[in-house]
Amino acid sequence: MIHWCLKQLGQLTSKNKLSILIYHQVVAEKDPMRPSEPDAAEFRWQMQLIRDYFNPLPLAEAVTMLKQGQLPANSVCVTFDDGYLNNLTVAQPILQELGIPATVYVATGFSHGCNMWNDRLIDLIGNQQITEFNLAALDLPVAKVSDWASRRELAYSLIPKIKYQDYQQRSTIIDQLYADNQTSEAKPKMMTPEQVKQLSELGIEIGAHTVDHPILKSQTLAEQTRQISESKQTLESWINKPVTGFAYPNGKPDNDYTSEAVVAVAAAGFDYGVSTQWGISTPQAKWCELNRFTPWDKSHLKFHLRLVKNKLGL
Ligand SMILES: [Zn+2]
Repeated sequence: MIHWCLKQLGQLTSKNKLSILIYHQVVAEKDPMRPSEPDAAEFRWQMQLIRDYFNPLPLAEAVTMLKQGQLPANSVCVTFDDGYLNNLTVAQPILQELGIPATVYVATGFSHGCNMWNDRLIDLIGNQQITEFNLAALDLPVAKVSDWASRRELAYSLIPKIKYQDYQQRSTIIDQLYADNQTSEAKPKMMTPEQVKQLSELGIEIGAHTVDHPILKSQTLAEQTRQISESKQTLESWINKPVTGFAYPNGKPDNDYTSEAVVAVAAAGFDYGVSTQWGISTPQAKWCELNRFTPWDKSHLKFHLRLVKNKLGL
């Protein structure tokens, strides 16, 4: 009954207000080092709720309708960042079964077997063979861990120390951490070009997310332009379709990208761009900076309420 009432509230209040959800991974089974990533069961009820009480649309189509002021009430788009293989193996079958369109933004530089620096760090600290980590690469003393909670605490405390370094420097630090702790890499987590093509052929929109996932703000204008346009061209060559959407890595305006990147996205020929600024988008939105948000609620009602609150701008 509450869900039905919330749907009616949305019908009355949310015309021309677009909610875009951000996901990254949908894991087959819960990962103790990544508790916020939904597993298949959690993702399934979230998508069922969207199917039953909202109006899921392909993002490119929703953007066109929003530009015309014709976006229906309760419209929601589902997006995934980075290009994880489990988007194809775990999420896509659920999306297909429930008839929910989605967009996956791929950072093309990780499609040949190398994991992203943050995953490499989390996997290193999650390696149960090691209980004392040599952190000399970060000028930090040896850190001891015991249970999963202490491993998570260590991993997530190190991420901010590396995130805003240059992207080549980030890889160098992680390489050094692996060498100092004599650990081998976890298996590849990202889609290969063939798997990206497969996902595209299954009807998922493929968008660009740069080549190396740098913080664009920390790059020269020439490098920002290269990262933005090269990822578009590479993806188009893989899927044989135009790539019209772009997601900014990390995605917070001013912190992670500036107007330089926004101009470069428009100049590269994208129809729209998405940030990670929380909120909805209206017909007055900046098309190269649409808002999104991450639904992390573990209860059905809280998840539903968050979607409605977002529409109401609360
Ligand atoms: Zn990303």
